[in-house]
Amino acid sequence: MPATVAIIGRPNVGKSTLFNRLLRREAAITHDRPGVTRDRIYAETDLGGRKVAFVDTGGLEMEEQVEDIQAAIFAQAREAVKESHGILLVMDGREGLTALDERVAAFIRTSNKPVLLAVNKIDGSENADLMLAEFHGLGFPLLAVSASHGHGITTLREQIADFL
Ligand code: GDP
Ligand code: MG
Repeated sequence: MPATVAIIGRPNVGKSTLFNRLLRREAAITHDRPGVTRDRIYAETDLGGRKVAFVDTGGLEMEEQVEDIQAAIFAQAREAVKESHGILLVMDGREGLTALDERVAAFIRTSNKPVLLAVNKIDGSENADLMLAEFHGLGFPLLAVSASHGHGITTLREQIADFL
């Protein structure tokens, strides 16, 4: 059985884009509408000679107009976290830290599993360090990435391999 990493975060931060990027697949099925993921949500890849499975979350249930989007996120996150060895938390560096991010982070903290925070959408940013500053307060090891442009993905893969 491969080690499993759950990709967790509020809608639209780029989880599915990152999932596809980590799997080195071109067929990224993402959408501007928050929470839309029509692709497979579980796939394996090789990380440093080791098989690792990534689980994308926040897709399927939400296609059916979920009333309470937060409840849906947490329900999915809870399941994914339970089944995973590590957590890849994703946030949106352009939007900055939101109240929902803080709630997701607080929930993840209770899992006692290794966590890595990817601050996404750093493309086009003048100063990635400044963008990262507010996320340091969450207390997770973090790095800046751009899922759509591929920045930081090699480092991300290395760090995931290390923390598992
Ligand atoms: P999810 O809801 O968290 O799975 O987010 P998606 O992967 O569906 O992405 C949501 C939106 O953000 C889409 O329009 C993506 O194209 C866009 N997006 C994802 N990653 C990046 C990135 O690194 N930079 C920018 N500028 N946009 C991104
Ligand atoms: Mg998605």
